[in-house]
Amino acid sequence: MNRQDPRKKVRHSPFRTAKNVWFMIRYVLRYAPGYLLVTLLEALGKGGWHVAGVLFTRYLFDAIEAGEDFRRVVTFLLFYAGYNAVFLLFSRWRLSVYLPKVELVLHEGIQNELYEKARKLDQSCYDDPEFYNDFIWAIRESDKRTVQIMENISLFLNRLLSGAVIWSLLASMDLYAALFLLCAVLAGFFVRNRLNRVRYEKKLELNPIARKKSYVGRVFYLSQYAKELRQGKISSLLREKYAGAVEEEISCIKKYVKKIFFLSLLASLLSGVVPSAGMTGYLIFRYILDPTLSLGQFSASIQASHKLFRTLNDLGSCLNKFNEHSLYIENVRRFTGYEPKIQGEIREVPPFESLEIRDLSFTYPFTEGGEPVLSHLNLSIHRGEKIAFVGYNGAGKTTLVTLLLRLYDAESGEILYNGVNIKNYSPEEYRRHIGAVFQDYKIFAATVAENVLGGEYSEEKEPVVKEALEAASFTERLKLLPDGIQTQLTREFQKNGAALSGGEAQKIAIARVFARPFELIVMDEPSSALDPISEYELNQSILKNAAGKTVIFISHRLSTTRMADRIYMFAQGKLVEEGTHGELMEKNGKYAEMFRVQAEKYRAGEEASPKGTPDAESSAVSPAAFPATSPFEQQAASWEGAPEGLRGEYPR
Ligand code: ADP
Repeated sequence: MNRQDPRKKVRHSPFRTAKNVWFMIRYVLRYAPGYLLVTLLEALGKGGWHVAGVLFTRYLFDAIEAGEDFRRVVTFLLFYAGYNAVFLLFSRWRLSVYLPKVELVLHEGIQNELYEKARKLDQSCYDDPEFYNDFIWAIRESDKRTVQIMENISLFLNRLLSGAVIWSLLASMDLYAALFLLCAVLAGFFVRNRLNRVRYEKKLELNPIARKKSYVGRVFYLSQYAKELRQGKISSLLREKYAGAVEEEISCIKKYVKKIFFLSLLASLLSGVVPSAGMTGYLIFRYILDPTLSLGQFSASIQASHKLFRTLNDLGSCLNKFNEHSLYIENVRRFTGYEPKIQGEIREVPPFESLEIRDLSFTYPFTEGGEPVLSHLNLSIHRGEKIAFVGYNGAGKTTLVTLLLRLYDAESGEILYNGVNIKNYSPEEYRRHIGAVFQDYKIFAATVAENVLGGEYSEEKEPVVKEALEAASFTERLKLLPDGIQTQLTREFQKNGAALSGGEAQKIAIARVFARPFELIVMDEPSSALDPISEYELNQSILKNAAGKTVIFISHRLSTTRMADRIYMFAQGKLVEEGTHGELMEKNGKYAEMFRVQAEKYRAGEEASPKGTPDAESSAVSPAAFPATSPFEQQAASWEGAPEGLRGEYPR
């Protein structure tokens, strides 16, 4: 692609800069509109303060020279002092009381908006590293930049006001001096602008390096990596990667250091020593040569030139800052401008009756040229059915679930929900009808009840939570938790938070789909973290509680799925067989082969284990799959009493 990466664009027109600044001001209008008023008051107050300072000096000297009435001078002085006192009071209140509060209000509002934006985006955004860059920029920069922009606006306005008055005052006394100052400041402005662009380019280059470093930091910080880090040599590999990133950082800094040094030196000369010293020398020289100049005029012109110099410099810096902010805001806007492609008009989604998949093919985004992960699938599911998707890892089962949930949209073929293409439904409304337990389920740092409800808990919801936990076979473990359903999960924030085992956490995730009245439930490897007995109990419980509901089980452990009304066998993205367990065993195809392989593993595990206990590998086939030949014979025997769908023939 030849198109220039918009992130690398370091020049913005004044119009674009203004648009970007306005974009951030709109955050202020949304979350803290009073801040705009306070900023304008500060700008006017400070501008007036600067102007009054110069005018007062001039008046004072002229009044003394002209022998004015002393009382008038004192009255004027009192007014001036009063104005200063009021402004000082306001300014202090703004800085110490108002600003810290408003910063937090803005922070909360903006971050919430960005998090919500991220939640609504398509899943495919997470496959795109550039999305992460924009997301991180937005989260890191937006609230900080909003406050900085408001402060810049305040400075800009007050300097514009005082600059205009003081400049005309100086120009009326000495036009050349006023023009000289203007030129020096303009030169400084352009140099600083260049300097800012170089700094921004450097930051752009450093951003991906910072991400590498923060990845390593995250791995060492997050508890889910802690066990792996204590094994093998992965931690030294990560440290090497970190050191590599630091080296990259150093060479990037080296690349820019000279440029930044010279530009910043030039900028300080042009906006510091050169015009300041030149101006003072020139004015003294003029005063000596021109006897018509009054002392008041001379001292006012000295003060005015210094004030003007500072004011113009500040104005230049403000414009530089607006330009700099604009570069950063552009990235924030790119993130907020991401629009989900997955959309749909229909908001009224009827209760589930059927799903039909017609000639569905799918390739993940950002894998152009790759093989389709799913190709030409056709299948249908009706209300009340228990369906199983089975197949080896990588066959495409989870991908199909993500398509059913509309986390991605397939490029060809269609999925019909009650006969309507799911692309016509609003994704949010549509997803409300499907309860899903993901293979990589997550437990949140919140109470058991909040985790189960997926939201806030209130007392009247207690029975719902408890029933859902019972449906997920969590009741026994619940009895051991110190605060029952109010127990805090994870130790992220609480020292005595409950640390659940993988299987226990998985049950909490399963309970979520029972806490809401879903008619269609999808369970992706719901028992992958469970031991065989728990798996059997859970299967029983799920079937009992999901009676009348439609359930799609996804698993490569055939013991979990054999009870299904219909089994779909996937291989390399294609549907290769379908039927009941009995039909597929009779067919003696891929399913039967997979079932036998798992049974072999189980037997091997049984022989290898003195007590016949299957090892982790062999648990691929649970006792539910076998008659009373193992230590699980009791469980297996009770299989006979299991619901109809759970029974099946066992390979011998
Ligand atoms: P299964 O659930 O049957 O184990 P998956 O649906 O998870 O299989 O994966 C099918 C294929 O899709 C795998 O080859 C996997 O690498 C690929 N895949 C899964 N997620 C992504 C993704 N986000 N981007 C690209 N490829 C993916």
